[in-house]
Amino acid sequence: MQANSSFHQLKAGLDEGKFTCVDIVNHYLKNIHQKNDELNAFLTIYEQEALDRAAEIDTKIANKSAGKLAGLVVGLKDVLCYQDHPLNCGSKILDDFHSQFSATCVERLLAEDAIIIGRNNCDEFAMGSSCENSAFGPVKNADNTSRVPGGSSGGSAVAVQSDMCTISLGTDTGGSVRQPASFCNVIGLKPTYSRISRHGLAAYASTFDTIGIFSNSIEDAALILETIAGEDEHDSTVSTEKVPEFSRMLAFDGKVKVAYLKETLESPALNEEVKEAVVSIGEKLKAEGHQVDEVSFPLMEYALPTYYILTTAEASSNLSRYDGVKYGFRIDKPRNLESMYKKTRTQGFGHEVFRRIMLGTFVLSASYHDAYYIKAQKVRRLIKNQLEELFKEYDFVLLPTAPSTAFELGAKTSDPMEMYLADLFTVQASVAGAPAISIPIAKDSDGMSIGLQVMTKVFAEDKLLAFSKYLLEAK
Ligand code: GLN
Repeated sequence: MQANSSFHQLKAGLDEGKFTCVDIVNHYLKNIHQKNDELNAFLTIYEQEALDRAAEIDTKIANKSAGKLAGLVVGLKDVLCYQDHPLNCGSKILDDFHSQFSATCVERLLAEDAIIIGRNNCDEFAMGSSCENSAFGPVKNADNTSRVPGGSSGGSAVAVQSDMCTISLGTDTGGSVRQPASFCNVIGLKPTYSRISRHGLAAYASTFDTIGIFSNSIEDAALILETIAGEDEHDSTVSTEKVPEFSRMLAFDGKVKVAYLKETLESPALNEEVKEAVVSIGEKLKAEGHQVDEVSFPLMEYALPTYYILTTAEASSNLSRYDGVKYGFRIDKPRNLESMYKKTRTQGFGHEVFRRIMLGTFVLSASYHDAYYIKAQKVRRLIKNQLEELFKEYDFVLLPTAPSTAFELGAKTSDPMEMYLADLFTVQASVAGAPAISIPIAKDSDGMSIGLQVMTKVFAEDKLLAFSKYLLEAK
């Protein structure tokens, strides 16, 4: 079996009888055993369970009754519920909590005979850009273990990067699939907000949270998206928009209109090598006859503050449920009820989560609600409108996924503002609910991956995937 195979390649090998599902699982387990102690990408490995399931699926393949994902091995970010399996959200506060049901996306994968191999480490409650906020230790980038993998779905990104599973599911609230994908040399898709049911996803900021996919190929991202997206009786916010067969819509031809955003390319935070790589893609597109323009997006500078005001507000409300009564951790021998709440939450949450709950409570407080929360909601609408206008004129927007490549572990941990800047170019799609993808396009002089972000209008994932495939083949 080749390293970093796509599901397509694995499926071809299975069909030709070159190997079995058990062989595939053993291949990944070998890599996990060799590398996970250092990389810390998996918190739990479901070894025996994955092997047993693989054997069952091999029998189904022989009987010709297997589902379309037979042989696909999946890692799950530690915020996605998998029935009777542990769930910690990268936090101490959930302690020995086990999920009572599976997330809809997980159920849909299982129904097609995918195999879940383990639970991926992440920033606590998906808050972070480097995977250094996990209560279970940082994740390391497999291309250089002194560098971060990005966050918050860093474990999921590294699991695919280092050939420990075929695909993994992460979540992207402000960039947590795209940014780690860009740091780890893999593909990271954030679909349109509401495309995939959030049932069974532990909430961070409910009007932003989007389940996303890490993969080695666009075909795999398309296949997984069409399998897990769509209506769900357990989530009243999920879109009723039809889910097309994305994996059959990957042919791309014709000429497109593409925009660069002036404000991103001129940003002082943008690293030169990243800029060059992104601009060179535009040059290639022009040479192939596509229209590539630099356009201004004046609201760009407001995307990051808008994101951090609204998401902290939502987080402060969502995380109020972790009170020592309903889930997991509770301090020993509390003096009274109030002190039980206070001490449980103080000891259970890490610094970053604590900071965001405080900030969110502040922006929602009676005296500041209008000045921050309401204002940010209005700005969110303006950003959405401006992006919609842009997509009347252009098919795609090209941006760097992140201002830099993977940085050193510890480089930004003492300065939260510096860390938040890692999300500078990803939050825009999140604020607008638009789909966006990060694809690896180059390496910097240190050999670290550079990701290109492609964004398009809501529910146009078919075009986004087809165009991304074309870009990857042409690069
Ligand atoms: N890095 C961003 C944050 O810390 C995005 C997180 C995410 O998408 N879950 O909020």
